[in-house]
Amino acid sequence: MASFSLEKLTTYLPYRDVVIVYHSVSDEKLKHAQYLFPYRSSKDFIKDLDELSKVFDFIDWDTFLERKPTKNKSGKPKLLLTFDDGYSDFHDVIAPILKQKGIYATNFINPKFIDNKDLMWRCKASLLISEIEENKDLQQQVLGFKSLKLNPDLSNIKQNLLSIKFENQHLLDELAAFLNIDFKTYLAQNKVYLTTNELLKLKQDGFGISAHGWDHPLYHELNLDAQLDNTQKALDILEKLGLNNDSFAFPFTDFGVKNDFFEKLSKANPRLQYTFGAAGLKLDSRFKNLQRIPLEVENYSAKQVIKNEIIYYNLLKLIGKHRI
Ligand SMILES: [Zn+2]
Repeated sequence: MASFSLEKLTTYLPYRDVVIVYHSVSDEKLKHAQYLFPYRSSKDFIKDLDELSKVFDFIDWDTFLERKPTKNKSGKPKLLLTFDDGYSDFHDVIAPILKQKGIYATNFINPKFIDNKDLMWRCKASLLISEIEENKDLQQQVLGFKSLKLNPDLSNIKQNLLSIKFENQHLLDELAAFLNIDFKTYLAQNKVYLTTNELLKLKQDGFGISAHGWDHPLYHELNLDAQLDNTQKALDILEKLGLNNDSFAFPFTDFGVKNDFFEKLSKANPRLQYTFGAAGLKLDSRFKNLQRIPLEVENYSAKQVIKNEIIYYNLLKLIGKHRI
């Protein structure tokens, strides 16, 4: 199969409507993101879109909703483009490219960070690592932070900061204070997230803005009530702003989330059409929970990533492990 073209491989897709996900596209160094995901440059992003357009038709949310239950197999397979986390480059870099090409996208956002009110905890870790890496003095100073047992090796520092869990995120704030790094200043100077005005403008321009939880927790580390609260708070705020409340994408992963969550969430939100994970090309036993393909893979173009996903899916199918 590896020698097949992407076009030929698409006949081995499990469904004709594939959902893909990115976070950021930027030609600049993003200290808050560089240790979390390998974001594309604008040139590479355009190349991805051009290559994908040859094999797939990009569709918008309404078309996706109409097609999904019909299992329509005619014509080229379809792609729904999504982004996570509501970063400002969606407005500054991505939307202008998409508008020029007539491609729709949805961005799944965390309302807590709208207007740069705070930085997501994982972004704090990436930013701290970036600052420590660039500054020899900080590399010494950080060893004095007793709440973490760090050694002078940069990769050890990196590993330690990236393994801090959601419930211990206060450690990142304490370390920042200890090193005199001010997240608010970084947010003010770098405008990491979309503002309310930008969100409303994007919505007006036809893009989707939907929910990604209130503050980006790892769901399987929360109890059921906290999972539901975190999701509901995001859906309610988006509704109040006149944005979309008919879909939800799990932050990080839906791994370990129980059936109860899906049942209670859809009962409380009859408008909710689909929830999304990001486990790649897989079927899901909850048929309203769809798995997206993450496209930010270092050194692989979108076309190569999707080819690999199709091959991997068919391997899993051989051993009966293609369904979550
Ligand atoms: Zn996210």
